[in-house]
Amino acid sequence: MAKDIGIDLGTANTLAYMKGKGIIMREPSVVAVDVRTDAVVEVGSKAKDMIGRTPGSIVAVSPLKDGVIADFEITATMLKHFIHMAAKSGRFSKANIVVCIPSGVTEVERQAVDDAIDKAGARVLEFIPEPKAAALGAGLPVEEPVGSMVLDIGGGTSEVAVISLGDIVAYESVRVAGNKFDEAIIHYIKKKYDLLIGQQTAEEIKNQIGSAYPTEGTENAALQIKGRSLVDGLAKNITITAEEIREALSDSLQIVVEAVHTTLEKTPPELCADIIDHGITVTGGGALLHGIAPLLHQETGLPVRVAEDPLDCVVNGAGKYLEKDAHSKKSADAPQE
Ligand code: ADP
Ligand code: MG
Repeated sequence: MAKDIGIDLGTANTLAYMKGKGIIMREPSVVAVDVRTDAVVEVGSKAKDMIGRTPGSIVAVSPLKDGVIADFEITATMLKHFIHMAAKSGRFSKANIVVCIPSGVTEVERQAVDDAIDKAGARVLEFIPEPKAAALGAGLPVEEPVGSMVLDIGGGTSEVAVISLGDIVAYESVRVAGNKFDEAIIHYIKKKYDLLIGQQTAEEIKNQIGSAYPTEGTENAALQIKGRSLVDGLAKNITITAEEIREALSDSLQIVVEAVHTTLEKTPPELCADIIDHGITVTGGGALLHGIAPLLHQETGLPVRVAEDPLDCVVNGAGKYLEKDAHSKKSADAPQE
């Protein structure tokens, strides 16, 4: 019997939800490829561990890096692996899948995802716009005639949307999110300390002591980090503070704030009034950055709430969709060719 699965194909992480079971898979959207043979060596967390550590012939790539499918073939292979991983959690012959994809994905890319899933022995029932799934997963009343604003800060993109009666009424996407935050940290440390650090180290710094606004607990935080000196090429230790990281991140965060302002400008007045009352809900891994809510509140004057389990909102939204539409969806079952 066919089971229903929801997939959040994110730029940083891919998650899968199985109807009646919950989240069954959570892996980084990373593939390690041997460039001599084009063979896929590892997928998911094992591939992510290889970033910056591979011998010359193996490269670890994020095929969806900036919110678009940069590499069709690799994305397809990655999806196939993920579907097989997910399939192990439940026995099904031909799974029916709803997919949440980044907004920047074109029709051609969408078709590629469709084909990849088909090749993996499953079938795409529907594509759900990510902001809608995020809002649903965050518990917002998306089907009501009320404006809800969601800001999803992922790896490659930050997406802001106002949703009412199940549709997106105002929307803005910027290619500034977790990855750009990491790059900003690398750049800052290089400029200030002549020290080169890797992508993984930058992400660790961000996740441990990064903040958008001075908050309790992060104010005096500091971290000892290792890198390679650009002066003499030797390994070197420095201590970096939360305040420095805040400074490193501030320009990137300002772009995210701007995206919220732009979306508000595009929002019809009645719905704006709802948002003034209900505020902004933040989802995605970037919502875990300390002080993101106070920063957004300071810059917009709106109430701001970080969703519960922000990394899981999109896939949980897809899950809610599956559970709710378990029966009514049968009629929309026809392949969408
Ligand atoms: P996507 O939907 O694009 O796959 P996610 O919503 O999974 O992205 O979020 C991934 C991003 O969130 C990464 O850039 C990661 O570094 C970042 N992230 C994860 N945990 C934290 C944290 N505690 N603080 C700041 N950023 C975080
Ligand atoms: Mg996402």
